[in-house]
Amino acid sequence: MTRTVSVLLPIPAEGAYSYAVPQDMQLAPGDHVQVPLGPRKVAAVVWDGEAGGVEPRKLRPVEAKFDCPPLSAELRRFVDWAARYTVSPPGMVLRMVLRAPGGLEPPRPETGYRFTGNVPDRMTDARRRIIELVGDGIAWSKSGLAHAAGTSASVVDGLIRLNVLEPVDLPLRPLVPPPDPQGHAPEFEPDQRGAASQLTDAAAGGFSVTLLDGVTGSGKTEVYFEAVAKALETGRQVLILLPEIALTASFLERFEKRFGARPGEWHSDVAPKRRELLWRQVATGEVRVIAGARSALFLPFADLGLIIVDEEHDQAYKQEDRVFYHARDMAVVRGQLADCPVVLASATPSVESLVNARRGRYRHLRLERRFGDAVLPEIATIDMRKTPPPRGGFIAPPLRQALAETLASGQQSLLFLNRRGYAPLTLCRVCGHRFQCPNCTTWLVEHRFRGQLQCHHCGHSEPAPQACPECGTFDHLAACGPGVERLAEEAVTLFPDARILVLSSDLMGGVRRLRLELEAIANGECDIVIGTQLVAKGHHFPLMRCVGVVDADLGLSNGDPRAAERTFQLLSQVTGRAGRIGGRSVGYLQTYQPDHPVIAAIAAGDREAFYDREIAGREAAGLPPFGRLASIIVSAATRREAESHARALRRAAPPAGGITLLGPAEAPIAILRERHRFRLLVHAGLKAGLQDFLTAWLAHGPKEQGSIRVQIDIDPQSFL
Ligand code: ADP
Ligand code: ZN
Repeated sequence: MTRTVSVLLPIPAEGAYSYAVPQDMQLAPGDHVQVPLGPRKVAAVVWDGEAGGVEPRKLRPVEAKFDCPPLSAELRRFVDWAARYTVSPPGMVLRMVLRAPGGLEPPRPETGYRFTGNVPDRMTDARRRIIELVGDGIAWSKSGLAHAAGTSASVVDGLIRLNVLEPVDLPLRPLVPPPDPQGHAPEFEPDQRGAASQLTDAAAGGFSVTLLDGVTGSGKTEVYFEAVAKALETGRQVLILLPEIALTASFLERFEKRFGARPGEWHSDVAPKRRELLWRQVATGEVRVIAGARSALFLPFADLGLIIVDEEHDQAYKQEDRVFYHARDMAVVRGQLADCPVVLASATPSVESLVNARRGRYRHLRLERRFGDAVLPEIATIDMRKTPPPRGGFIAPPLRQALAETLASGQQSLLFLNRRGYAPLTLCRVCGHRFQCPNCTTWLVEHRFRGQLQCHHCGHSEPAPQACPECGTFDHLAACGPGVERLAEEAVTLFPDARILVLSSDLMGGVRRLRLELEAIANGECDIVIGTQLVAKGHHFPLMRCVGVVDADLGLSNGDPRAAERTFQLLSQVTGRAGRIGGRSVGYLQTYQPDHPVIAAIAAGDREAFYDREIAGREAAGLPPFGRLASIIVSAATRREAESHARALRRAAPPAGGITLLGPAEAPIAILRERHRFRLLVHAGLKAGLQDFLTAWLAHGPKEQGSIRVQIDIDPQSFL
């Protein structure tokens, strides 16, 4: 009788497929296998449950089993859960687990060479130097040996041919050395010690969630390192999620200082070969700690013992393509399935996490003071209606004054504007033509330094024009509004002797350059930093004294349900870059609405006022976390197709209690990458069974066909 097995493939199918098991193969759930799919061979995973339906003899057989630790039951349940929650095919979630296919095979050992004891008949100086080096019997790699002996590889080759050297397998070098849980713990202050001891208690136990809620610079990182130490002592693995790992060189250094070794680093910038080795050594348990971007959540840990989500409020945790998921929420679920503690750290917690903490579902640890003699910056608003900047400028007199004083005292300032490029809109002063993206309904952003107009949504770019394409007039194009480049131009005029640095993701030279620039700021090699949200997050700039937010109202006007929360977090974080060690520091918010509750709460340093108001508002409106939202985005090559599909979908919605549908409406970005977009918003009560409703709806509704695509975004963060 032929045996069959259920196998989940990393493809957008509804469920697992059935395969036959060859006579001589033993398979259990979690095993990594290679199976045929049409003409292709695909790496997949033996899944739980009976293989269903098909006559076993008609099934194609599993081709091979990989020599790799099986996917744990915990991770398999996580894949199933994430698929159900995000209303995605389970295979698409599995695909995020199988990101490093080379890791399925054991790494091939490098060949080394060792001395056989034979001495060549003809001795040269080069040969003698090599023989001296290998004389102690230890094996060398070929290039290492040639290099150490100062010869070419061909001399080594010669000795191999003469059987003076023989090949052996070199032992595999560990990718990252094991961290030492003892290491160098700091002297904690009393409140830090209290929080650290509660965290280590939590880290010694099973599943729990702790919100580590402490002001910027209060020592949250040092404190949660104690939980990491505890988990390492008990022999389990640790996952630390960071929102912008590529920028967090200083985090890796701090970790090394504390534990004597760096964590494994997991993000898109890590070389593919290294990712494969890391993936495998996470699965074998050799790598003890991973610090990574959101995708690290899907790594195959052998024995996950602690998850930390640093800056848990950060939007970068939301993935918005293919499988739409929020890594912070998923981290809590993975912790539950792995029965391990989860720590969420932030100075500006998400409303969701704070509500959970206030209701006692999460343990709530507060650190209300900065470490040492550092104090939070004094915040002031600058009313742009009363003290506007001079014509053509964007820096109002009070901010200019503060910058001048900071400069005179030899300290650092930050000018924050969350807009890349020179100007967000270019128009013709003669005919009014506005430069729009050919692929999207967005304005093109001028990047003067590169001489380009760019679309920040699809990546389109074109050379900055001299004449208007509409009316042909030369030299009458006007840049409207500021971006960081334009602000830098103004700062240079105001402070010609200051060392000014512009930091945004447009910086040429990529992550490496960015890390160098951040280091330079920390070392005091510049006076005024002008940056986008890239500099607002988590960095420790010891010399920063003055932060000016050029347009504090920027995020408030876009009218989505999270605008207030997001603005509050961003402004608190960016002003929190000032005064991280000792002394007085200041933050200025340039605003046209100083009485807006968000601005007023920040100016008064009254964060509870903001949260109380925001939470009450959400509760009244039934918005998350007091209700649930899902976005459905219907896109197609033509507007007509997108709209008619969205309407047909809406008509097909089954009746359901506690669920309201809004739309379809044309999306704010009506065309994106040449695709026309319509949105539906689903608003559900907490007990309404949102996922079941969506699954049933999509199963009965009109199917995707031709160019039509339907994307589901559970708990949407973006409404564009
Ligand atoms: P947060 O993550 O809350 O913003 P950090 O953990 O980055 O705060 O701490 C801010 C700064 O204070 C860091 O340079 C950190 O090394 C230092 N620090 C915090 N607590 C201590 C301590 N107990 N002993 C020595 N340095 C500390
Ligand atoms: Zn575009």
